[in-house]
Amino acid sequence: MADALFDPADRIILTGFSGTGKSAVGPLLAKQLGWQLLDTDAIVEEREGKRILEIFRDDGEVTFRDLEADALREACSRARAVVSTGGGAVLRPENRRVMAEAGFIVCLEARPETIVARLRDRASSEPLDRPLLATEDPLSRIRELKAARQHIYALCDWAVHTDGLSPEEVVAEIVRALNERGAALLAAPGRADAIAEESAAVPPGTLHAIPDGAACMVRTALREYPVFAGWGILGELGVRLREQDLTRFAYVISDETVWHHLGDEIEGSLQLEEIEFDVFTVPPGETSKSLEVAAGIYDWLIEHKAERGHAVVALGGGVATDLGGYVAATFARGLPLVHVPTSMLGMVDAAIGGKVAVNHPRAKNMIGVFYQPRFVLEDIATLRTLPAREIKSGLAEAIKHGLIADEAYLSFLEGKAEAILKLEREATVEAVRRSVCIKAEIVGADEFETTGRRSTLNYGHTLAHAIESTTGYARFRHGEADGIGMMAAGSMSVRLGLLAPDVLERQRRVLERYGLPTSAADLDRGRIMAAIQLDKKVQAKKVRWVLLEGVGRPVLRDDVPPEIVEAALDEVLL
Ligand code: NAD
Repeated sequence: MADALFDPADRIILTGFSGTGKSAVGPLLAKQLGWQLLDTDAIVEEREGKRILEIFRDDGEVTFRDLEADALREACSRARAVVSTGGGAVLRPENRRVMAEAGFIVCLEARPETIVARLRDRASSEPLDRPLLATEDPLSRIRELKAARQHIYALCDWAVHTDGLSPEEVVAEIVRALNERGAALLAAPGRADAIAEESAAVPPGTLHAIPDGAACMVRTALREYPVFAGWGILGELGVRLREQDLTRFAYVISDETVWHHLGDEIEGSLQLEEIEFDVFTVPPGETSKSLEVAAGIYDWLIEHKAERGHAVVALGGGVATDLGGYVAATFARGLPLVHVPTSMLGMVDAAIGGKVAVNHPRAKNMIGVFYQPRFVLEDIATLRTLPAREIKSGLAEAIKHGLIADEAYLSFLEGKAEAILKLEREATVEAVRRSVCIKAEIVGADEFETTGRRSTLNYGHTLAHAIESTTGYARFRHGEADGIGMMAAGSMSVRLGLLAPDVLERQRRVLERYGLPTSAADLDRGRIMAAIQLDKKVQAKKVRWVLLEGVGRPVLRDDVPPEIVEAALDEVLL
């Protein structure tokens, strides 16, 4: 707590996002007032004998935040001081109380574009790492972090927009505000409580910066976790497990094909971090997603005396991540889970969102739970050994993400089809990362599929499931069936007057560009209708179709007239 001997008007605390000018303004302000300058980052670095980045890397963000809180308390106990704080210092309510009780809080503001330009300027003149710049798209990252923290930065006495101002002009504005308004603002009733307001929390997922290498965070009720997605990052598995304190034992669950391709690299990565492990491989294919196979894995875990501090690493396509995830969720009431998807479908869809399941002989994915992993690690380079047909099938889900949620992403997929199908690095990494983020955003908004938002991911699925089940899951890959299903749903949307016909044509063209079917011949129409009805019976309600009102505008409809369904099926089932 700040020393009450001093008048709060004797201290100015500078807050604000990195790059808003605190380090330029702080010394000038202190000089003009004849006060001392205390920089909390500098205090921490001096005490620890390490740079902030090294503390983050070696000891983690929580340790840094504790050290920062100590430094802030100390700085705020000095009189006649300008206290310059790090960009994240305001995140803890207790820090904000210390600041509020100690002095006049001034937040420096700047537009994200200005921040990027200033950080780049500084990076060129100072040999410092700039973690905010070390991402593929610093501007987007800064926008996201800044937007999430904006309501916290607003908990100040005065804000100065620094974009068009020199540091000297900012100083003049702060001094003017303190002299003219300081006393009244500091005396405002309930001021400190309002500034330290606990409920002004930062939304999960943005409290901590998105770790480097992560495409995005998945924000769920119980935890938020990163999805690391990049080219050639499989070898990071051991380090990432260590970051999560999951080093006691790793149970790798994979399929034989995937283990054949990637086993050596996984072993090397775990050995490097001295993580003991064992591997359980299952035959590739949907039949491994069964309770019998799961029971075999439970036996294996019992033999190993698996316990809650150990981790399950589910490595492979959607079959391995669904099966491994289901086992992790149910064994000993839950072992920590890590998903390492290696198929396109696994990366953009199955490994994101926490649905894990095995099949019942009479219904696919019927035995399952929601269980979120600690993190997801996607090495996009592993797709090089995935058969081309599997790549295309997985990309159907990426196209679906564009159709239901993001027109710009759909355009990107249209423009980069050739590069992505050839797995050219830059385009494929971007395609996967953007798709992951769309799914993560939808899952974060409706984790347990209660509001309808998550159900929009089922665009095309109602018919796709019926096609897959009536053909014994043998003729079509899921994405292929989904291509046909999306065309049927699109056609219903047009027939109901919801969707412009040219959008449906656009959908057809993009599916074709990715070599996906948009119709199929020789299917048993009667059995397909029966399967759709069965789906309805299982859900004890009407068939709920996901339709489109436009790109990025899905709607759920359970009142589609049978003749419209029939006409749409006529179009796609030849
Ligand atoms: P899959 O796991 O069977 O993988 C397809 C094939 O690719 C397999 O033969 C596999 O051995 C092989 N493979 C995977 N990665 C490889 C690589 N890097 N190199 C070479 N071969 C590789 O099937 P899938 O299409 O990935 O996933 C389908 C499953 O995912 C289904 O069971 C489906 O129900 C499930 N799924 C789950 C969710 C969910 O939210 N949990 C979402 C969509 C699909």
